[in-house]
Amino acid sequence: MKVNFCDLQKQYNLLKTKIDSGINKVLEHGIFIDGPEIKQLEETLAGYLGVKEAITVSSGTDALYLSLLALEIKPEDFVITTPFTFIATAQVIALLRATPIFVDIEADTFNISPEKIEEFLKSPKDPISKKRISLDKIKAIIPVDLFGQCADYDQINSIAKKFNLTVIEDGAQSLGAQYKNKKALNLGDIGCTSFYPAKPLGCFGDGGAIFTNDKPLADKLRCLKNHGQEAKYSHKLLGINGRLDTIQAAILLAKWDAFINQEIALRDQIASCYIKGLQELEDKGYIVLPKIKPGNKSVWAQFSLRILNNLRDEFKDYLHSQGVPSAIHYPLPLHQQKSLAYLQYKAQDFPIAEEISKEIISLPLHPYLEKDEISYVINKIKEFFRLNVK
Ligand SMILES: *Cc1c(COP(=O)(O)O)cnc(C)c1O
Repeated sequence: MKVNFCDLQKQYNLLKTKIDSGINKVLEHGIFIDGPEIKQLEETLAGYLGVKEAITVSSGTDALYLSLLALEIKPEDFVITTPFTFIATAQVIALLRATPIFVDIEADTFNISPEKIEEFLKSPKDPISKKRISLDKIKAIIPVDLFGQCADYDQINSIAKKFNLTVIEDGAQSLGAQYKNKKALNLGDIGCTSFYPAKPLGCFGDGGAIFTNDKPLADKLRCLKNHGQEAKYSHKLLGINGRLDTIQAAILLAKWDAFINQEIALRDQIASCYIKGLQELEDKGYIVLPKIKPGNKSVWAQFSLRILNNLRDEFKDYLHSQGVPSAIHYPLPLHQQKSLAYLQYKAQDFPIAEEISKEIISLPLHPYLEKDEISYVINKIKEFFRLNVK
């Protein structure tokens, strides 16, 4: 059997009529930039999240970048984030010449640890100069809702309030998730998501969105994503071209009902099947299954488990040889990436992120994975441990 990690073809075949007609409408009206589908999508997203303002943008990365631009983050500023995420989260801070400050994660959820944020803020040091940072230079926290599970916003928001920090939720993986009956992406001051094809809700190219309840901030973001333009060829701010294409908005609108009414629940059912099927391997001490905190509802952007006893790479090779693809999110924490080496962090600075990055692996998970495919993956995993553990 050959299983797909993520099956966009199958989804397209199921939703073909709706998607094709959505795209065709755009081809017919010809308003490829800022067409009516953009406003329609923004209203749909804002209505679902219960947030006042939704601003579509060109990618999840640009959503984060524009948020920092809107906050006027300067080179002497510091922004706190997690070392265990996709590079974009920290890259945008560094691109503005501000300094990313990493804080280690929780071992069970893989999300940034609020306790460790507080600990850092008790005696904040610049990773490069090792000098004490004055608190007014620490401007924001970017928690990431990793693999579709929200970070601990009650704790994070209360720390942010105490230290006057803006919370930018990196919800690139969490559209459709919930935290204590509140929707992901409406949990901090600003929420940023991505419509990259493989995310829970993906378009057919790059795309993203920013959410906030702050109207003046939303107006600024709309201006910044359009070259800082207030009227045609009159530019009051330094901005970028960060707009979403109308065609991508039409595709997202065509996928919306299936995402909200079916796919979120299907992802959760598949994750439950994996957990049920693999529980005995956790009980034997071979693996650690993903842990969802009480009050959280993950959207399962990834089903990522830990393979213990240094077997992760062999495990991956074995699954591959049996037609089961997998992926490693992420093999190297950000403080160990070459592009961020100038920050002078060293090995063992964030021991949990470092350990998890050696053990983590993501299994195939998409809403259209069939029962027999799930069973096949589970059986192949069990077979691996039968063959490799005495
Ligand atoms: C995918 C992702 C991004 C970037 O989104 P793009 O749309 O690919 O630019 C940022 N942060 C996280 C956590 C992501 O998973």
